[in-house]
Amino acid sequence: MLPARQEAELGLNREDENSLIVLKLGGSVITEKERNLTPNLNSIDRLAREIAEANVKGLMIVHGGGSYGHPLAKQYNIKEGYKDASQIEGLLKTHQTMLELNKLVVDSLIYHNIAAFSVAPSSCVVTKAGRIKTFYDDALRMFLKTGFVPVLFGDTVLDTEIGFTILSGDQLVATLATEFNATKLVFGVDVDGLYTTDPKADASAQLISNTTFEELKKMMPKIRGSKTTDVTGGMLGKVLEIINMMNASIQVIIVNAIREGNIYKALRGEKVVGTIIREE
Ligand code: ADP
Repeated sequence: MLPARQEAELGLNREDENSLIVLKLGGSVITEKERNLTPNLNSIDRLAREIAEANVKGLMIVHGGGSYGHPLAKQYNIKEGYKDASQIEGLLKTHQTMLELNKLVVDSLIYHNIAAFSVAPSSCVVTKAGRIKTFYDDALRMFLKTGFVPVLFGDTVLDTEIGFTILSGDQLVATLATEFNATKLVFGVDVDGLYTTDPKADASAQLISNTTFEELKKMMPKIRGSKTTDVTGGMLGKVLEIINMMNASIQVIIVNAIREGNIYKALRGEKVVGTIIREE
Protein backbone atom coordinates (compact mmCIF):
# COMPACT_ATOMS: atom_id res chain seq x y z
CA MET A 1 0.00 0.00 0.00
CA LEU A 2 1.20 3.48 -0.81
CA PRO A 3 1.46 5.99 2.01
CA ALA A 4 -1.29 8.64 2.03
CA ARG A 5 -0.25 11.50 -0.19
CA GLN A 6 0.04 15.13 0.73
CA GLU A 7 -2.66 17.62 -0.21
CA ALA A 8 -1.52 18.78 -3.66
CA GLU A 9 -2.50 16.89 -6.78
CA LEU A 10 -0.14 14.47 -8.43
CA GLY A 11 0.19 15.75 -11.97
CA LEU A 12 2.31 15.25 -15.06
CA ASN A 13 4.41 18.17 -16.09
CA ARG A 14 6.87 18.30 -18.96
CA GLU A 15 7.09 21.81 -20.32
CA ASP A 16 10.51 21.80 -21.90
CA GLU A 17 11.33 18.55 -23.63
CA ASN A 18 14.89 19.70 -24.24
CA SER A 19 15.94 19.88 -20.66
CA LEU A 20 16.72 16.77 -18.69
CA ILE A 21 18.47 16.31 -15.37
CA VAL A 22 19.70 12.89 -14.28
CA LEU A 23 20.01 12.53 -10.51
CA LYS A 24 21.95 9.72 -8.83
CA LEU A 25 21.15 9.15 -5.16
CA GLY A 26 24.04 7.28 -3.59
CA GLY A 27 23.51 4.08 -1.65
CA SER A 28 25.58 5.68 1.12
CA VAL A 29 22.91 8.35 1.46
CA ILE A 30 19.64 6.38 1.29
CA THR A 31 20.82 3.42 3.40
CA GLU A 32 22.93 2.95 6.51
CA LYS A 33 25.91 1.60 4.62
CA GLU A 34 27.50 -0.17 7.61
CA ARG A 35 24.27 -1.94 8.67
CA ASN A 36 22.87 -4.66 6.45
CA LEU A 37 19.46 -4.02 4.87
CA THR A 38 18.90 -0.80 6.79
CA PRO A 39 17.31 2.10 4.92
CA ASN A 40 17.89 5.69 5.96
CA LEU A 41 14.22 6.65 5.92
CA ASN A 42 14.84 10.19 7.16
CA SER A 43 17.23 10.79 4.27
CA ILE A 44 14.86 9.26 1.73
CA ASP A 45 11.97 11.42 2.93
CA ARG A 46 14.02 14.62 3.06
CA LEU A 47 15.47 14.02 -0.40
CA ALA A 48 12.02 13.35 -1.85
CA ARG A 49 10.86 16.66 -0.34
CA GLU A 50 13.87 18.54 -1.75
CA ILE A 51 13.30 17.00 -5.20
CA ALA A 52 9.62 17.98 -5.07
CA GLU A 53 10.46 21.53 -3.98
CA ALA A 54 13.06 21.90 -6.74
CA ASN A 55 10.23 21.14 -9.20
CA VAL A 56 12.45 20.58 -12.25
CA LYS A 57 10.87 19.61 -15.53
CA GLY A 58 12.47 16.55 -17.06
CA LEU A 59 14.02 14.44 -14.34
CA MET A 60 15.27 10.90 -14.16
CA ILE A 61 16.42 9.38 -10.86
CA VAL A 62 18.77 6.44 -10.29
CA HIS A 63 19.65 5.16 -6.84
CA GLY A 64 22.42 2.95 -5.56
CA GLY A 65 22.31 -0.21 -3.48
CA GLY A 66 24.14 0.68 -0.28
CA SER A 67 23.56 -1.93 2.42
CA TYR A 68 20.75 -3.52 0.37
CA GLY A 69 22.36 -4.75 -2.84
CA HIS A 70 26.08 -4.70 -2.17
CA PRO A 71 26.58 -7.22 0.68
CA LEU A 72 24.51 -9.90 -1.11
CA ALA A 73 26.15 -9.20 -4.46
CA LYS A 74 29.52 -9.58 -2.79
CA GLN A 75 28.57 -12.76 -0.88
CA TYR A 76 27.49 -14.51 -4.10
CA ASN A 77 30.09 -12.94 -6.43
CA ILE A 78 27.35 -11.70 -8.73
CA LYS A 79 29.44 -9.04 -10.48
CA GLU A 80 31.96 -11.62 -11.71
CA GLY A 81 29.21 -13.54 -13.54
CA TYR A 82 28.11 -17.14 -13.61
CA LYS A 83 30.46 -19.66 -11.99
CA ASP A 84 28.04 -22.16 -10.47
CA ALA A 85 24.35 -22.75 -9.83
CA SER A 86 24.52 -21.69 -6.18
CA GLN A 87 24.81 -18.07 -7.36
CA ILE A 88 21.31 -18.07 -8.82
CA GLU A 89 19.79 -17.79 -5.36
CA GLY A 90 22.11 -14.84 -4.67
CA LEU A 91 21.18 -13.18 -7.96
CA LEU A 92 17.49 -13.40 -7.11
CA LYS A 93 18.02 -12.22 -3.53
CA THR A 94 20.12 -9.25 -4.69
CA HIS A 95 17.45 -8.22 -7.20
CA GLN A 96 14.63 -8.64 -4.68
CA THR A 97 16.36 -6.51 -2.05
CA MET A 98 16.96 -3.80 -4.65
CA LEU A 99 13.26 -3.88 -5.49
CA GLU A 100 12.49 -3.39 -1.78
CA LEU A 101 14.79 -0.38 -1.56
CA ASN A 102 13.40 1.00 -4.81
CA LYS A 103 9.87 0.73 -3.41
CA LEU A 104 10.84 2.80 -0.37
CA VAL A 105 12.32 5.50 -2.62
CA VAL A 106 9.44 5.55 -5.11
CA ASP A 107 6.75 5.52 -2.38
CA SER A 108 8.44 8.47 -0.73
CA LEU A 109 8.61 10.43 -4.00
CA ILE A 110 4.93 9.72 -4.67
CA TYR A 111 4.10 10.83 -1.13
CA HIS A 112 5.71 14.15 -2.05
CA ASN A 113 3.53 14.37 -5.18
CA ILE A 114 6.15 13.38 -7.72
CA ALA A 115 4.85 11.14 -10.50
CA ALA A 116 7.65 8.65 -9.84
CA PHE A 117 7.56 5.40 -11.78
CA SER A 118 9.80 2.44 -10.97
CA VAL A 119 11.79 1.09 -13.94
CA ALA A 120 13.93 -1.99 -13.32
CA PRO A 121 17.14 -1.86 -15.39
CA SER A 122 17.17 -5.68 -15.54
CA SER A 123 14.06 -5.46 -17.74
CA CYS A 124 15.54 -3.05 -20.27
CA VAL A 125 19.33 -3.46 -20.22
CA VAL A 126 21.62 -6.28 -21.36
CA THR A 127 25.35 -6.00 -20.73
CA LYS A 128 28.38 -7.51 -22.43
CA ALA A 129 31.25 -8.31 -20.05
CA GLY A 130 29.81 -5.83 -17.57
CA ARG A 131 29.25 -2.91 -19.93
CA ILE A 132 25.84 -1.84 -21.25
CA LYS A 133 25.36 -3.44 -24.67
CA THR A 134 21.65 -2.96 -25.36
CA PHE A 135 19.21 -0.51 -23.85
CA TYR A 136 15.56 -1.07 -24.72
CA ASP A 137 14.61 2.50 -23.96
CA ASP A 138 11.24 3.05 -25.68
CA ALA A 139 9.27 2.87 -22.45
CA LEU A 140 11.72 5.16 -20.67
CA ARG A 141 11.53 7.76 -23.44
CA MET A 142 7.73 7.64 -23.29
CA PHE A 143 7.69 8.02 -19.50
CA LEU A 144 9.88 11.11 -19.81
CA LYS A 145 7.95 12.56 -22.69
CA THR A 146 4.71 12.33 -20.77
CA GLY A 147 6.20 13.90 -17.66
CA PHE A 148 6.74 10.94 -15.37
CA VAL A 149 9.91 10.72 -13.29
CA PRO A 150 11.44 7.29 -13.96
CA VAL A 151 13.26 5.84 -10.96
CA LEU A 152 15.91 3.25 -11.78
CA PHE A 153 18.56 1.61 -9.63
CA GLY A 154 21.77 -0.39 -9.64
CA ASP A 155 20.51 -3.86 -10.52
CA THR A 156 21.41 -7.42 -11.40
CA VAL A 157 21.32 -7.76 -15.20
CA LEU A 158 21.82 -10.49 -17.76
CA ASP A 159 25.10 -10.41 -19.62
CA THR A 160 25.82 -11.92 -23.04
CA GLU A 161 29.34 -12.98 -22.08
CA ILE A 162 29.38 -13.79 -18.39
CA GLY A 163 25.73 -14.77 -17.89
CA PHE A 164 24.83 -12.07 -15.39
CA THR A 165 26.46 -9.22 -13.52
CA ILE A 166 25.82 -6.10 -11.46
CA LEU A 167 25.02 -2.96 -13.39
CA SER A 168 26.10 -0.08 -11.18
CA GLY A 169 23.91 2.96 -10.79
CA ASP A 170 26.98 4.96 -11.80
CA GLN A 171 27.38 3.24 -15.18
CA LEU A 172 23.64 3.57 -15.66
CA VAL A 173 23.49 7.34 -15.04
CA ALA A 174 26.45 8.02 -17.31
CA THR A 175 24.79 6.06 -20.12
CA LEU A 176 21.37 7.60 -19.53
CA ALA A 177 22.77 11.14 -19.36
CA THR A 178 24.62 10.62 -22.66
CA GLU A 179 21.88 8.74 -24.54
CA PHE A 180 19.12 11.09 -23.43
CA ASN A 181 21.23 14.26 -23.91
CA ALA A 182 20.85 15.39 -20.33
CA THR A 183 21.96 18.92 -19.54
CA LYS A 184 23.05 18.05 -16.02
CA LEU A 185 24.05 14.96 -14.06
CA VAL A 186 23.94 15.30 -10.26
CA PHE A 187 25.58 12.78 -7.95
CA GLY A 188 24.42 12.88 -4.32
CA VAL A 189 27.02 11.19 -2.10
CA ASP A 190 28.05 11.15 1.59
CA VAL A 191 31.07 13.45 1.22
CA ASP A 192 31.25 17.08 0.03
CA GLY A 193 32.37 16.17 -3.50
CA LEU A 194 35.47 14.83 -5.20
CA TYR A 195 38.64 15.30 -3.17
CA THR A 196 42.32 14.97 -4.03
CA THR A 197 42.27 11.71 -1.99
CA ASP A 198 39.61 9.88 0.06
CA PRO A 199 38.51 12.44 2.71
CA LYS A 200 37.49 9.63 5.07
CA ALA A 201 40.98 8.14 5.06
CA ASP A 202 43.12 11.25 4.64
CA ALA A 203 42.57 14.41 6.70
CA SER A 204 44.66 16.47 4.27
CA ALA A 205 42.33 15.67 1.34
CA GLN A 206 41.28 18.81 -0.52
CA LEU A 207 37.93 19.39 -2.19
CA ILE A 208 38.14 19.90 -5.96
CA SER A 209 35.46 22.53 -6.59
CA ASN A 210 35.85 23.00 -10.32
CA THR A 211 37.44 20.78 -12.90
CA THR A 212 37.17 19.57 -16.49
CA PHE A 213 36.81 16.05 -17.92
CA GLU A 214 40.39 16.34 -19.21
CA GLU A 215 41.85 17.31 -15.81
CA LEU A 216 39.82 14.60 -14.14
CA LYS A 217 41.39 11.99 -16.38
CA LYS A 218 44.84 13.09 -15.21
CA MET A 219 43.76 12.88 -11.54
CA MET A 220 42.52 9.30 -11.92
CA PRO A 221 45.47 7.44 -10.36
CA LYS A 222 44.93 9.22 -7.02
CA ILE A 223 41.24 8.49 -6.57
CA ARG A 224 40.25 5.42 -4.56
CA GLY A 225 37.13 3.32 -4.10
CA SER A 226 34.87 3.14 -1.09
CA LYS A 227 35.82 1.76 2.34
CA THR A 228 32.56 -0.11 2.96
CA THR A 229 31.22 -3.08 0.98
CA ASP A 230 30.83 -1.66 -2.50
CA VAL A 231 31.04 -4.07 -5.38
CA THR A 232 30.85 -1.30 -7.92
CA GLY A 233 33.83 0.83 -7.05
CA GLY A 234 33.04 3.86 -4.85
CA MET A 235 34.27 7.26 -6.00
CA LEU A 236 36.76 5.66 -8.37
CA GLY A 237 33.90 3.91 -10.17
CA LYS A 238 32.07 7.22 -10.48
CA VAL A 239 35.08 9.04 -11.89
CA LEU A 240 35.69 6.29 -14.45
CA GLU A 241 32.11 6.59 -15.65
CA ILE A 242 32.28 10.39 -15.72
CA ILE A 243 35.45 10.25 -17.85
CA ASN A 244 33.62 7.97 -20.28
CA MET A 245 31.16 10.80 -20.87
CA MET A 246 33.89 13.16 -22.04
CA ASN A 247 32.26 13.98 -25.35
CA ALA A 248 28.85 14.74 -23.96
CA SER A 249 28.21 18.42 -23.43
CA ILE A 250 26.96 18.06 -19.92
CA GLN A 251 27.61 19.51 -16.51
CA VAL A 252 28.35 16.97 -13.79
CA ILE A 253 27.90 17.99 -10.15
CA ILE A 254 28.92 15.92 -7.13
CA VAL A 255 27.38 17.11 -3.85
CA ASN A 256 26.89 15.89 -0.31
CA ALA A 257 23.27 14.69 -0.25
CA ILE A 258 23.38 14.16 3.50
CA ARG A 259 23.53 17.93 3.99
CA GLU A 260 20.05 19.37 3.80
CA GLY A 261 19.36 21.62 0.82
CA ASN A 262 22.25 20.50 -1.39
CA ILE A 263 20.22 18.37 -3.78
CA TYR A 264 17.62 21.15 -4.02
CA LYS A 265 20.34 23.68 -4.88
CA ALA A 266 22.08 21.38 -7.37
CA LEU A 267 18.79 20.69 -9.16
CA ARG A 268 17.84 24.37 -9.23
CA GLY A 269 21.27 25.42 -10.46
CA GLU A 270 21.97 27.42 -7.31
CA LYS A 271 25.42 27.82 -5.81
CA VAL A 272 26.33 24.77 -3.76
CA VAL A 273 29.43 23.29 -2.10
CA GLY A 274 30.62 20.39 -4.23
CA THR A 275 32.52 19.45 -7.38
CA ILE A 276 31.50 20.78 -10.78
CA ILE A 277 32.89 19.04 -13.85
CA ARG A 278 32.51 20.75 -17.22
CA GLU A 279 33.78 20.19 -20.72
CA GLU A 280 36.22 23.08 -20.43
P1 ADP B 1 27.55 5.95 -3.14
O1 ADP B 1 27.38 4.53 -2.65
O2 ADP B 1 26.82 6.93 -2.30
O3 ADP B 1 27.36 6.11 -4.58
P2 ADP B 1 30.35 5.47 -2.82
O4 ADP B 1 30.50 4.84 -1.47
O5 ADP B 1 30.33 4.58 -4.01
O6 ADP B 1 29.05 6.37 -2.82
O7 ADP B 1 31.46 6.59 -3.04
C1 ADP B 1 31.61 7.62 -2.12
C2 ADP B 1 32.78 7.31 -1.22
O8 ADP B 1 34.00 7.32 -1.97
C3 ADP B 1 32.96 8.32 -0.12
O9 ADP B 1 32.26 7.94 1.05
C4 ADP B 1 34.48 8.39 0.08
O10 ADP B 1 34.87 7.82 1.32
C5 ADP B 1 35.04 7.54 -1.05
N1 ADP B 1 36.16 8.19 -1.78
C6 ADP B 1 37.30 7.57 -2.18
N2 ADP B 1 38.11 8.41 -2.81
C7 ADP B 1 37.49 9.62 -2.80
C8 ADP B 1 37.85 10.91 -3.31
N3 ADP B 1 38.99 11.14 -3.95
N4 ADP B 1 36.97 11.95 -3.14
C9 ADP B 1 35.78 11.74 -2.52
N5 ADP B 1 35.39 10.53 -2.01
C10 ADP B 1 36.24 9.48 -2.15
